[in-house]
Amino acid sequence: MSHQQKTQTGAEEIRWNLADLYPDSTTLEDDLEGVSAAAEDFAQRYRGQVVSLDDAGLATALEDFEALQERLVRAHTYTYLNWCTHLDDSEHGALLQKVREVSTQIQQKLLFFELEWVQLEDSQAEKLLKSTAITPYRHYLECERLTKPHVLGEPEEKVLSEKALTGSQAWNRFFDEIVGSTRFSFEGQELTQQEILAKLYSADRQVRQRAAQSFTEGLEHHLRELTFVFNTLLADKSSNDRLRHYPNWLSSRNLSNEISEEAVQTLIESVTHRYDLVARYYNLKRTLLGLEELHDYDRYAPLEEVETSYSWNQAKEITLKAYESFHPRLGSIAADFFKQRWIDAPVEPGKVGGAFSHPAVPSAHPYVLLNYTGNIRDVQTLAHELGHGVHQYLARPQGLLQSDTPLTLAETASTFGEMLVFDRLMKREDSPGAHLSMIVSKIDDIMATVFRQVAMNRFEDRIHTTRRTKGELSSDHFSEFWMETQEEMFQGSVRLGDHYRIWWSYIPHFLHTPGYVYAYAFGELLVLALYARYQKEGEEFVEKYLRLLEAGGSDWPHVLLEKLGIDLNDSRFWQEGLSSIEQLVTRAEKLAEEVNSAREAL
Ligand SMILES: [Zn+2]
Repeated sequence: MSHQQKTQTGAEEIRWNLADLYPDSTTLEDDLEGVSAAAEDFAQRYRGQVVSLDDAGLATALEDFEALQERLVRAHTYTYLNWCTHLDDSEHGALLQKVREVSTQIQQKLLFFELEWVQLEDSQAEKLLKSTAITPYRHYLECERLTKPHVLGEPEEKVLSEKALTGSQAWNRFFDEIVGSTRFSFEGQELTQQEILAKLYSADRQVRQRAAQSFTEGLEHHLRELTFVFNTLLADKSSNDRLRHYPNWLSSRNLSNEISEEAVQTLIESVTHRYDLVARYYNLKRTLLGLEELHDYDRYAPLEEVETSYSWNQAKEITLKAYESFHPRLGSIAADFFKQRWIDAPVEPGKVGGAFSHPAVPSAHPYVLLNYTGNIRDVQTLAHELGHGVHQYLARPQGLLQSDTPLTLAETASTFGEMLVFDRLMKREDSPGAHLSMIVSKIDDIMATVFRQVAMNRFEDRIHTTRRTKGELSSDHFSEFWMETQEEMFQGSVRLGDHYRIWWSYIPHFLHTPGYVYAYAFGELLVLALYARYQKEGEEFVEKYLRLLEAGGSDWPHVLLEKLGIDLNDSRFWQEGLSSIEQLVTRAEKLAEEVNSAREAL
């Protein structure tokens, strides 16, 4: 393990207060017993009865159902968040596991409710959906109905969910364990995946190159197993899709993303048509780094070696000012996260890595977890997670069943918050050199979220369709598809070494959530377009944007976005986001010229 020098940032004392969920874990355990009894009672009242409920009766049942779900989610949130900061304490792990097991049992008792709703005749369901008594639950119910052609009977569903534990879930865990336990040799040290990949951001080219080589060597040792897991999960998904009557490998994802195949197609085509921007950007980056040829391991190289560091208070001030300048309401909700102790900020032993905002339950409030070390990325992460937090907070009145957005809208407020803070950070600097390096790091991120994800979607498309039409794939097949789809994107601007051929094999999204990756591109382009509108429309946009956040997941994304004048099926909308990227690249090119001529003048 590498030993990191810990510098004080002021984030050390910033710990969250989970007492807003339960005063202690005994209260939680008592409550859980209560939920179990209440679920039993609910099942006795409603099992086999959904078909005979009128609108008022259904509304009452839904209220009870939502309340039960709230109590389960509250219990899970409390034990999960507690576990996140006490990974090395087996008591917290055991309590989390217990809550999960009890919840699964309770959910099994409640399974009938949604199934019976889905099984109603269309005419009866449509009539109920029109009633105002149902309004607070309409979209949730509509979405459930969409699964109708894909849901099997209760016994089949039970068998499938039980067998998934030793089927797809076990294979996924096996994958996590292989990748998680692989060590990568680097200068006499054995590094984890996260540690070795972090070296690709090094300013030292030798370090980047050796890290890439070592990463490949580590993966190669397990290539046989990884290929087997990929093939097995591709086949598992293929049989699930067949049993559930999904027309193609992406249909089930689009359904849960609440987006039409047509809109996804428009997005993918719009992005692949602008691969020229990728080439233009990496050519610029190659010049900036002073390299003859830009290799795959050079892509994340920073422009400047020195990094500015931000204390916790500075980060807090920058973020709050940025949110406040957008709208006072956004500022005051963000401020509550700090004032009311809804954030856990420091890096601590036994704490999970990364960052997230957990929505918890509408009757409480979201919580944000960070690992704050004080670099500029951490400030962006704070802005990002607070964006989620504010969104989740504003959507609380929609209730548990309708507050969560589908993936397609999930990154809106977070990415938007990052843009606000990015502008603020830019304003703090005045040298073209500093602006250039910040813009380059921003474009690096955009390349990774927009173009890289779409290229990965093209890779997924090939492996799923090939597995379905031609059978098992060899490691080489995977590698060929990977290189083809990556090369299409880079258009010769980046030299992909031989070692890069197997870099498909460690990406968890392909296995854990097939089809997921395009949602990143969707979210980023959506926000770039929204941000451009904000800069043009000002005040008028602000109100509409707040309504969008408050709506949470209470309607289809295309309906919510229509209110902001956006048509997802229109390629012109996606062009807006893409031309924002083009403007950033142009800005970077101009700054590069400025910096260059200033240097020559010296
Ligand atoms: Zn996010």
